[in-house]
Order: sequence, then structure tokens, then C-alpha cells
Amino acid sequence: MPEEQTQEKPETRERGTFAEVECEDCGNEQVIFARPSNPITCEVCGSELAQPRGGLADLTGSTFIDYLD
Ligand SMILES: [Zn+2]
Repeated sequence: MPEEQTQEKPETRERGTFAEVECEDCGNEQVIFARPSNPITCEVCGSELAQPRGGLADLTGSTFIDYLD
């Protein structure tokens, strides 16, 4: 049985609405808006994870892990 060929769609959708990051202070992994309009703090230790930068967040206190979409 021949395998059905899947056509690759061109990427029209912008990736990265949500991003998973790790807090540099406590190691907490948290899902944040990739393009936030307010500073984001860690839910566990309260450290600042990211600052809004008019586009993609500036990860001031966290390490980027992956996009969720
Ligand atoms: Zn933390």
C-alpha cells in the first residue's frame, strides 16, 4: 500500500505565541507570553523572568526552553 504523501504547507502562521522558560533563580519552568506587554515574574520565587520589548520578550532572568505552538 503506497504511503499517502503529505503536502507541506508554507508557514504562514507566526510561531511563538507562548514560550516555555526556566527561572534562573529557582529552576521553575513556566509558560509565558512570548510577546508580553507587562514584565513577567516567576510564580514560585517572584524573580523577574522577562521584560516586554515591543516584540519578543527580553528574557532578563530566565532561560528559553521552547515554543509551545
Ligand atoms: Zn523562580
